[in-house]
Amino acid sequence: MTTADTLPGVGTPLPAGTPTQLFLNGNWQPASDGGVFTNINPATEQVLAEVSAGTPDDIDVAVRAARAQLGGQWGATPGVVRGQILNKIADLIERDIDILATLEALDVGKPVGQPKMLDVPNAAATFRHFAGWADKITGFSIPTAGYFGKPTHSFTVREPVGVIGAIVPWNTPLMIAAWKLAPALACGNTVVVKPPEEAPLSILHLGKILEEAGLPAGVVSIVPGNGAVTGNALVEHPDVDKISFTGSPAVGRLIQQRAAATFKRVTLELGGKSPQIILDDADVEAAVQGTAMGLFFNQGEVCAAGTRVFVHRSRYNDVVDALSGAADAQVLGDPFDPSTTLGALVSAKQRDTVLSYIEQGKKEGARVAAGGTRPDHSGYFVRPTIFADANNDMTIAREEIFGPVGTVIAFDDPEEAIRLANDTQYGLAASIWTRDVSRAHTLARQVRAGAVWVNGWAAIDPALPWGGMKTSGIGRELGYAGILANTEEKVVTIVL
Ligand code: NAD
Repeated sequence: MTTADTLPGVGTPLPAGTPTQLFLNGNWQPASDGGVFTNINPATEQVLAEVSAGTPDDIDVAVRAARAQLGGQWGATPGVVRGQILNKIADLIERDIDILATLEALDVGKPVGQPKMLDVPNAAATFRHFAGWADKITGFSIPTAGYFGKPTHSFTVREPVGVIGAIVPWNTPLMIAAWKLAPALACGNTVVVKPPEEAPLSILHLGKILEEAGLPAGVVSIVPGNGAVTGNALVEHPDVDKISFTGSPAVGRLIQQRAAATFKRVTLELGGKSPQIILDDADVEAAVQGTAMGLFFNQGEVCAAGTRVFVHRSRYNDVVDALSGAADAQVLGDPFDPSTTLGALVSAKQRDTVLSYIEQGKKEGARVAAGGTRPDHSGYFVRPTIFADANNDMTIAREEIFGPVGTVIAFDDPEEAIRLANDTQYGLAASIWTRDVSRAHTLARQVRAGAVWVNGWAAIDPALPWGGMKTSGIGRELGYAGILANTEEKVVTIVL
């Protein structure tokens, strides 16, 4: 039985003082041509705000300011002081947790308890983690064979990459902005952030926090706007050294092509179609709980969503029934009602995309074991959906849906499970559910994904590298990998 919906009311208002203009070289200002775009609350379909849409000229101002700071006050700021500023940013994110969580819920449609539990604390933890790195970025002293018979002293230093363009998607905007900003700033870079047009508000509030934390003007500018205009201006700007992009594979491919013209460094964090493998010896109750979270958390709008559920045939019917029960038990509706567990999808377009995949799944012969429809009240909602009796060749098992839709597929032995798990263009994450430690290690080695979780889903941490293989992306962010990705290594050799 499906649980009753909580109906979005007139809507929670925007917190007073929420910025909606560009944060450009330390100033809050309208776009150079006065342009704006309309920001919609996906749970109510009402207008939330008119937000300034940055132009290529605005991007140019931001990049020039960022370049000037590399040779200015910021470039001369020692790591220990950068770390103090990052810690202060973390403090202020924690202080503003209610405002930031409210903005994420209003903008993205997610239940407000989720950003309070994950997005905001994770953003603060990311700034704290990289605060610790800021004065510990070191090089090596390397012995050599010498130079024309003379001894040498060679050593490496890690220098900032320079001006970084950070392009952010809408599903967890604050958290992903933090993943890009914190390591970049720890390493002494400057950053121009392009927030997503669907959900720019939490990143704009972060701009106020950066200001209050004492970051010099221009070290970070925030320029919301259209991807193809504002985002592209950043990608094509000749004085940007690197693009750090999180988003769809289609846009990631375009960015890599365009960035090649000016030899920019590019890191791409793209989509996924992550497997969750439930072996015959798994704790099925725990596996179902974790798998359901991997399907429905953040309305399934998660790059690492575990949308292909591979279940040993002996447990298949039990898991389908339990996952269907978990889907039906989701309370869909008002992101500000504490009983809501599943919010709205971010836009009408995203809702329609998800619904069209559901229709495709039905057409290709998968059985709808739960959900499969949208409710008849307003807001961009889709009921959590489980497809059973499916196979790995169906469109719903091959393409990223980015909504609360799971496809459950049976397998007969672990070798088949790995073959199916790897039979995908993606390679972002995977979960393996088993009580057998040897099988856990063996399968973890065999699956081609940037992150493998055994008996869990999305065990992310700022100390751990994050990124994907194959179509899921290029490069890593976070942890020590985040330091390497935000520095250039220089070698100095002195002939003695
Ligand atoms: P998207 O690619 O449509 O947009 C992402 C960002 O790129 C937005 O800010 C957008 O304005 C900008 N953009 C669009 N066109 C551009 C262009 N031509 N030049 C420069 N910038 C441009 O993606 P989305 O719909 O916002 O996000 C969903 C996608 O993001 C999914 O595929 C999801 O898996 C992926 N994602 C990946 C991760 C990860 O860590 N791997 C995390 C979250 C989301």
